Amino acid sequence: MIEGRQEVNNAAGTPAIVFTDCNMLDAAAEQQAMAAAGSADGAAAAAQPATKRREVSVGGKRVKTIDVHAHCVIPEALALQGKRIEDQRGPGIGEVGARRIAEMDEQGIDIEALSINPHWYKTERDLAAEIVRINNERLAEYCATYPERFVAFASVALQFPELAVEQLEHAVKKQGLRGAAVGASCAGDEFSDPKFHPFWAKCQELGVLVFIHPQSTPELNKRFKGNGWLSNTIGNPLDTTICLSHLIFDGTLDRFPKLKICSAHGGGYLPSYAPRSDNACRVGPEMCNPAIGLKKKPTEYLRDMYFDTLVFTSEALRHLAAEVGTSQLVVGTDHPIPWNQNPVDHIMNTPGFTDEERIAMLGGTAAKLLGIS
Ligand SMILES: [Zn+2]
Repeated sequence: MIEGRQEVNNAAGTPAIVFTDCNMLDAAAEQQAMAAAGSADGAAAAAQPATKRREVSVGGKRVKTIDVHAHCVIPEALALQGKRIEDQRGPGIGEVGARRIAEMDEQGIDIEALSINPHWYKTERDLAAEIVRINNERLAEYCATYPERFVAFASVALQFPELAVEQLEHAVKKQGLRGAAVGASCAGDEFSDPKFHPFWAKCQELGVLVFIHPQSTPELNKRFKGNGWLSNTIGNPLDTTICLSHLIFDGTLDRFPKLKICSAHGGGYLPSYAPRSDNACRVGPEMCNPAIGLKKKPTEYLRDMYFDTLVFTSEALRHLAAEVGTSQLVVGTDHPIPWNQNPVDHIMNTPGFTDEERIAMLGGTAAKLLGIS
């Protein structure tokens, strides 16, 4: 089946690329997806009935909608680690351009900013470099094939920060990628670790967006056992919460005040319970390092960061907006994972926003951050 799909890709002149999820869907879903993809041989997959494109307007004005949270994997890069595409779980595992775009059309998403969850943070340098090279070349090719529909975040070998600096600079300046996609920690090291400073400095210098996507919280795997897919259900938002808290409390965001960070899943749990961070050092001053004199209240840093809107309910979106500001929110779907099939309606149906705020959230802010005209 896989070979068949790749042949279709090649016949269409499209780089070999498939879309997958946060690597965590169950095997049954995967099998269903594989069966569906398999039954659609190349010709059938390419001949999917055209979906009517939903064009989004607000106040009579057409809005170019942009989804900053959309996944893919590159089979060729996976293979370097002995990973097979068949083992990548997710209902979109067999997606290629035309079908993927049809789903975007149905959702009313004009542009997706693709990212690849880093699966190479623990590999040695040469292998990591090769994986990143392949990922970024394929992403660039793919975006060039569909320039009206896709942009992409670069992969970087963050465990080698100086290498990551070179990779990002090359990806942005030579390949047209729009920023960096990273996890929420790197092989056990927090992003506030000084060894990552050169990378944040380069991101800031280039003015590109850093998309932070969690990879569960592996230190808690034992507690995540049991029913409820807790490694994802709470592990992912917790991972982001820990990441952002370190960037705030360890002074990293003071050191790089123009760093543009966008977090997946609405920033995890942090915006939901943000004011606790403002009171922690008051209640436990002995637990806070006086040498790290934060320039702002911890919650104020949230208003300088960006967050996707993958928070499910109008009330959650209203609260997120209240904590961070509507100017900091951008659409995120997790496509092709069906967390939110109606990302546009999620924003349109939440009461209390002005037209201008909805336009900004649907695409205006992301366009500026990603250099989309
Ligand atoms: Zn995701």
